[in-house]
Amino acid sequence: MSRSPGSALERASLRSVAARGAFHLLSCAADRSDRSVLPIPAGGVGLVGCASSGARAARDAHDPRAVTCEPLARHGQVLLLIACGARAQLELNGLPAPRVAALRPGDELRLGPAAPLLFVDFYREPPFVIAGPEHAGRQCQLCRGPIEAGRRVLACDCGALTHADPREEREPAPGPESLDCALRTCTGCSRELVTEAGYVRGGGADGRPS
Ligand SMILES: [Zn+2]
Ligand SMILES: [Zn+2]
Repeated sequence: MSRSPGSALERASLRSVAARGAFHLLSCAADRSDRSVLPIPAGGVGLVGCASSGARAARDAHDPRAVTCEPLARHGQVLLLIACGARAQLELNGLPAPRVAALRPGDELRLGPAAPLLFVDFYREPPFVIAGPEHAGRQCQLCRGPIEAGRRVLACDCGALTHADPREEREPAPGPESLDCALRTCTGCSRELVTEAGYVRGGGADGRPS
């Protein structure tokens, strides 16, 4: 391949992480109803410690206390890249954090000595799309039947498509046959295919592994 890596690759990687869901920072309050959740946008955000919620967006992009967070997908894994400003006092899993680190779901961080603990998790959305003209005529990876425009399909990052008609449309009824071929694993690339929204690590608190 003669194209040089760089911004195009980076954009593809950001698109791919955004298509899968978003990183959330969850306050570790024992009472789930009182927890705050901060989604990290695909384009990233600068955060500083906040006594109540644990984090707030930095108004000044060059705030030396800010920790810059940016989600990325690498080799099929989602990572939250963090870079600490000169005066940031970030604690990662109970230890002072390096200036640059790659976080995974399940990590815990504190944005300052007095800031509350935050649990890092990734909220996954199933990659359902409504097939458009660009998908029409392609084959379902399970039943090899044609993909018709306007029908819901599960679209893997690798491009493979699977019929995924919504549950309520699966009753026997006149009209086109309802198809749900949803798989747990893509036959094209072996990635796990999520069919229900939820946290990779249970969203902390009771879902957090001990
Ligand atoms: Zn099918
Ligand atoms: Zn795939």
